[in-house]
Amino acid sequence: MSHLVPILGAVASRPTIPIFSHTGEVLSRAVTFQFALDPNAQQRILFAKCAGARRFTVNHHLARVKVNLDARSAEREVLSESGDTCEPSTLSLSWSGFSFINEFNAWKNGQSVDSPVNEDGSRGLAWRHELPNDIFECASVDAARALENFSASRRGERSGAAVGFPRFQAKGKVTPSFRLRNRATPGRAPASQPIRFSDPAHLRLPKFGPVKVFGPTRKVRRMIDLGRFHIYSATLTQRAGRWTVSLTGVAAELHQAERSRTNRHADPVGVDRGIISLCVAADANGVFFESFEGVTTLKQALGKLKAANQALARTTPGSKGRQRARARLAKTHRKVVNTRRHLVHQASGTLVDRCQILVIEDLNVAGMVRNRHLTRSISDAAMGELSRQLLYKARWHGVEVRVADRFFPSSKTCSGCGEVRNDLDLSTRTYSCGACGLVIDRDLNAAINLSRWRPREHSAVTPLVPTRAALLSTA
Ligand SMILES: [Zn+2]
Repeated sequence: MSHLVPILGAVASRPTIPIFSHTGEVLSRAVTFQFALDPNAQQRILFAKCAGARRFTVNHHLARVKVNLDARSAEREVLSESGDTCEPSTLSLSWSGFSFINEFNAWKNGQSVDSPVNEDGSRGLAWRHELPNDIFECASVDAARALENFSASRRGERSGAAVGFPRFQAKGKVTPSFRLRNRATPGRAPASQPIRFSDPAHLRLPKFGPVKVFGPTRKVRRMIDLGRFHIYSATLTQRAGRWTVSLTGVAAELHQAERSRTNRHADPVGVDRGIISLCVAADANGVFFESFEGVTTLKQALGKLKAANQALARTTPGSKGRQRARARLAKTHRKVVNTRRHLVHQASGTLVDRCQILVIEDLNVAGMVRNRHLTRSISDAAMGELSRQLLYKARWHGVEVRVADRFFPSSKTCSGCGEVRNDLDLSTRTYSCGACGLVIDRDLNAAINLSRWRPREHSAVTPLVPTRAALLSTA
């Protein structure tokens, strides 16, 4: 079973043992690079088949598990009626990625009792050789992971909203996507790895040949050549008609010089979500640091999204016009997402570049109340994304991020005298204090207060490490 080892390595993208590249660099930082692709007609067909095979595999596992769960619960019912307390005779299935891979391999290769039988009498999945085997194995791991989330949620070991039994992957309902692993040890020379850039504009993927890549690839190619980045896997996703690839892997820590820079602003800088701007940053002395614009841009983009939605609603189901309207809606949606990501990356990059200590609010995004206020919901969403980016970028650059507790009244407190006003609503743009007479921009006031926040216990300030899920959510 030695071929199964790299799979587990690829799943746990935060390695516990150090990984060395071909130049001897230690790779420990989980990083994802994303590029838009321009596949040729043949590759396009193959991509679609792979995405279909992934859905097929996930559904295969979900169906098996569901049948098993139903059988056990039916049996349990009968047993409890007869007053019997023994366990059902139907054994429960193992939900591990490992056993899913083995089960699926045996099933599709015609080695298991319930393998499909073809018209010519042969056993096994007829089209299995058309696609890379990796598609099936990665899909099996994904199915296992979805079931693990479900079972952790059922056991109460998972925070956030309850997770139901994973949904079956219906064609047209789920985003077409699949994953390929780079089956190579990190120490191997880049030129001999299955997933590699064959030239500046082409990414070579096993079984697909070179796929044309949009955008500058210089940085990632340089990192790979220097042994500072190793690709674990490539995830291909089709959104609004366009295929993109996310290259997930491990990178070397940034150079020591970058991590111990001394020319950053030394005082803590508070970062508050704005209503007119994306966020406002200021230090404890009230020195206005930076206000990142962008809400207007996003609002305009969202306006177009709304128009595209309404246009779709006016079309007749099944018509050509509906297809066009749906494509336009998807495209507008992609634009909103890309705009926000770009703006937030700019803001987080600048903040980490210029500040040594950042203080942000604890935004429990999963539990965040949905806000009817459009601009507020934009800045909430942007701030959630900003905190996520700040946390990982800060760790890379040796910057400290303090997370103020949720009950810290950053916007209600007067930064002049400390008076707390409880009657502040969202439409009040300026904070005016009745006690000391201070009149100040509401967001700037909140940012100053945040910069003054001190942890009650020192241990609370350790910079958080981003989870793999958080890193992948950008994809
Ligand atoms: Zn005051």
